[in-house]
Amino acid sequence: MKTRSETQTAAKPVDVTIIDTSLKPKAPVNKKRKLDQISSSVPPANDPVPKTYKKLKTVDKIKSSAIASNDAKATSDQNQHIQSAIPAAKAPKLSRANSKKNKEEQKQEENKNDKDQGQLGALNQKADQLYKNISKFFVPKPFTQLNDKFGSLTKYIEVTVLELLNKVKEEEINNHRKKGEEENCPICMCELYENLEKMSEQEIKEMHEKQIKQELPIEVVVMSKCTDHCYHKECLVAQMGQQECIRCAVCSQIYGVLTGGMPKGTMSWKLTPKNKNYYCDGYKDFGVWEIRYDFPDGIRNGVKYQGTRRRAYIPDIPEGREVLTLLVKSFERRLSFLVGTSVTTGQQNCVIWNVHHKTNTHGGSSCFGYPDPTYLNRVKLELADRGVFLENIHEVEAVTLNGNGQSYVN
Ligand SMILES: [Zn+2]
Ligand SMILES: [Zn+2]
Repeated sequence: MKTRSETQTAAKPVDVTIIDTSLKPKAPVNKKRKLDQISSSVPPANDPVPKTYKKLKTVDKIKSSAIASNDAKATSDQNQHIQSAIPAAKAPKLSRANSKKNKEEQKQEENKNDKDQGQLGALNQKADQLYKNISKFFVPKPFTQLNDKFGSLTKYIEVTVLELLNKVKEEEINNHRKKGEEENCPICMCELYENLEKMSEQEIKEMHEKQIKQELPIEVVVMSKCTDHCYHKECLVAQMGQQECIRCAVCSQIYGVLTGGMPKGTMSWKLTPKNKNYYCDGYKDFGVWEIRYDFPDGIRNGVKYQGTRRRAYIPDIPEGREVLTLLVKSFERRLSFLVGTSVTTGQQNCVIWNVHHKTNTHGGSSCFGYPDPTYLNRVKLELADRGVFLENIHEVEAVTLNGNGQSYVN
């Protein structure tokens, strides 16, 4: 008895072109900050996010409620951040009030503060999940405006000259940094604060106080999901340009939703229940999800490109359902395919894979088929690198509940 995959045409090698979707900037070598240069190195804006989805009603319903609740969460996160930031900025005043207490009491207070890393802000940060990974030295400011696109996506913290110095000092103490080594902006490669090493403690303190009083601008920021690495704010804003997302060049965190250049097409998926003659090798006791992709021929930037039809297979195990759901997300973000040059035929302007798929139920890795025990995990990592994650359990349900579904990107 032949399996379904064997009745298909012989396995053809699959085009897999992994483009570097990272938004890593090409840092100018010149030490002088050259914003013009940075702006011009920003890649062109991505295609607009797909507007048309033809999906099962249940999918739409569950999805839109999930999106709505995410938005609500984001807003409440931001409010929480601003609220929790207020007491943090009042911290210096509180410690000044302490000076009226007798010395011993003050000393005890200070010791306690030292134990708490000397930062009231750190306590606020602990309470605030948003900044859970950020260095304790960086405290949210109540006056930071996060209303613009860059602010709402990255929820950055403004970093004063003193906060940066304290972080640098600790890195030196822990031997994570050579003494006197500059703290540079990863984009323009210039010092974050010019001549920080040459400034006296008094100068730094005065500058910090002016920054907190908003008498001096704060040009240095740390983004909310990063840890200890800072940038010039204007370098990040220039790098982001018209795009709806930004990726940290140091830790690869993605802020916003990364979208790709996949042309219009359809993805449909269908479950064939457990069948002794049709299964993914290695998953004999499970059904098979068959994915079909259909991309018609089209024209892009005045150039004709050739469409394609593809099939892919996933075993109906919990991890397989997760991967299917991630692939739907990846498709809807235009990341699964792209228009490019086929690795196998050398033909230009055709629709090619941009995420690894299994195009056979059998035959092993060399035939782009199963068995391949690490495939599901690998594709999850591949998608995570582009910011495609599961946000809640309902997403998997919405995609798999009816045993079939379809998504359309215009
Ligand atoms: Zn910079
Ligand atoms: Zn980062």
